[in-house]
Amino acid sequence: MPVPTCTKCEGHTFQAVEQSLVGAADKILFVQCVVCGAAVGVLDVHDNTALLKRQAAAIEELKAQVSQIDAGLRRIVEYLQNA
Ligand SMILES: [Zn+2]
Repeated sequence: MPVPTCTKCEGHTFQAVEQSLVGAADKILFVQCVVCGAAVGVLDVHDNTALLKRQAAAIEELKAQVSQIDAGLRRIVEYLQNA
């Protein structure tokens, strides 16, 4: 598999750096070469993948809580039916 290469210095190590742009309200995440600082790309600051993963984890937690509540309600109904 080809290794990503900086077009300016031919370095192979990159980092994400958050920067403001003149006239823009939101910051931008630049992917830049660690050696020379050349920008080679941009990333979405509002990373939807991370947001979806957090929401999926929250949904799983809620499902577990609903399951516990459901089990409790079933025990209450069973108790009341046998009383
Ligand atoms: Zn470079």
